[in-house]
Amino acid sequence: MGAGLTGLWTAHELLKREPGLRVTLLEKHIAGFGASGRNGGWCSALFPASTAALEKKHGREAALAMRRAMVATVDEVGAAAAAAGIECDYARGGTIVFARSDAQWRAAQHEVDEAHGYGVDALELWNGERVHARDARGAVYDPACARVHPAALVRGLARTVEQQGAVIHEQTTVESWQAGLVRTDRGTVRARHIITALEGYGATVAQTKRRILPLYSLMVATQPLDDEVWQSMGITHGQTFSDGRNLVIYGQRTADNRIAFGGRGARYHWGSAIRSEYDRVERVFEHLVATLHELFPQLPPLEVEHAWGGPLGVPRDWHASVSYDPDSGLGSAGGYVGDGLSTTNLAGRTLADLITGRDTELTRLPWVGHRSPSWEPEPLRFIGANAGLVAMTAADAEERATGRSSLIARAMGGLIGH
Ligand SMILES: Cc1cc2nc3c(=O)[nH]c(=O)nc-3n(C[C@H](O)[C@H](O)[C@H](O)COP(=O)(O)OP(=O)(O)OC[C@H]3O[C@@H](n4cnc5c(N)ncnc54)[C@H](O)[C@@H]3O)c2cc1C
Repeated sequence: MGAGLTGLWTAHELLKREPGLRVTLLEKHIAGFGASGRNGGWCSALFPASTAALEKKHGREAALAMRRAMVATVDEVGAAAAAAGIECDYARGGTIVFARSDAQWRAAQHEVDEAHGYGVDALELWNGERVHARDARGAVYDPACARVHPAALVRGLARTVEQQGAVIHEQTTVESWQAGLVRTDRGTVRARHIITALEGYGATVAQTKRRILPLYSLMVATQPLDDEVWQSMGITHGQTFSDGRNLVIYGQRTADNRIAFGGRGARYHWGSAIRSEYDRVERVFEHLVATLHELFPQLPPLEVEHAWGGPLGVPRDWHASVSYDPDSGLGSAGGYVGDGLSTTNLAGRTLADLITGRDTELTRLPWVGHRSPSWEPEPLRFIGANAGLVAMTAADAEERATGRSSLIARAMGGLIGH
C-alpha cells in the first residue's frame, strides 16, 4: 500500500529474490507522488535516531550493525539504480555540514569524536580554511552521502518493478486492511502479505492515524549557476550541504548546477491534514532564498525556478522501523523523518527477506520489530508539534546569542528528536 520508495524497493527486492511472486502496488495518486518524488536528494547514511540513542535502546553491537547497514546502503542505492539502468544523477561526493557558531563548532567536534569512538562512520572535521560559508568555524564532512535526482529515481524504479512483473494500480485509495484483505475505493484486493508503506500519509487513514505525524518540508531550486559561483561556495559535484542549526536545512548541487535547497519549519496542520495547498507557502520559499544568501553572501541574485514541498513522516520517538508478522502476513516500514531516501532501500531489502522467510543480518537489525509509541490525540498533537517547531527556531536564536548549545533544544529533546 503506497508506491513511494518503500513500496517500490520492497517490490523490487521481492521480485529479485522470487521472480514468480505476484506483487501489486496500490497507490492513491501516481507512483512517486509523495515524499519520494519531492525530496532533497540526499542519499545519506543518516538515520533519525542517533547512534547514541540506538546504543541506549538496543545495545552497542546492535547500534553499530545499524550504522554499518546505513553506510552500506548509500552505495547500495547507486548500485541498484545502475543495475536497473535508472538515470537519476547519482553522484557520491559526501556532505558538508558547516559549523557557523561556537556552539555548532563544539557540537561538530563532539560529533566527530563520538563517531570515531564508534568506528563506523568516517566523519572528518574540516577547519575554517577549507569551507566558504559565512561565519564558518569549520565543518563536519561525511563521505557517506550521494546526490540524486529523487523524481528520476522513483519514477525509474516504478518502471523497473513493472518490467519485473509487478502491477501498479494508480488512482486507487486504500481505505482499510486486515490479514489477507485490502479495501480500496475501487474494489477489494486479497493477498497473503500486506505491507503498509504510506509514511506521512498514514496519518490520513484511520488505522494508522496516531502512529505517524506528517511534517512539511519545503524546497526551492534556483537557476543554474556558473562554475565560478560554485567554486566560490566550495561545493563540487555530488556534494550536499547543510549547517549545524536545530531547524534542519539541506542543499545539493544538482547535475545541471542549480541549488536545490530546503528546510523544515512549515507549521503542522490541525488533525494531521495533508492538502496540496500546504506544499507551497510563499513566505517559506522567500525565507529559504534569504537563508541561502545569508549562508553564502557571495551568491548572485537568485531566481526561484521551481518550488515545492511535501509531508514526511515522524514517529513519536523519531525511530524509524520495519515490522512483519509471519502469522498475519501484515507488515510495514517507515518513520524515516527526513532520512528516507536511502533508508527505504534498506527497508525494502529487509522486508523482502522477512516476507520470503529468510533469517539474515538485515532481519536482525534493531529497527526490525521496533514499535514507536502513538502520538497524542488533538489538541495535544497540534500544540506539541507546533511548539516543537517554535522551540527549534528559539534554540537557534539562543545558540547565536549565548554561544552555547541550546537549553531549549535539550528540554524539548523528546519532541524534536534530539
Ligand atoms: C521536501 C522533502 C525533502 C526531503 N529530503 C530528503 C532527503 O534529502 N534525503 C532523505 O533521505 N529523505 C528526504 N526526505 C524524506 C524522504 O523523501 C521520505 O522519507 C521517503 O521518500 C519516504 O518514502 P515512502 O515511500 O515511505 O513514502 P512516500 O514517498 O510518502 O510514499 C507514500 C505513498 O503513499 C501514497 N498514498 C497516500 N495515501 C494513500 C492511500 N490511502 N492509499 C494508497 N496510497 C496512498 C502516496 O501518494 C505516496 O505515493 C524529504 C521529504 C520531503 C517531503
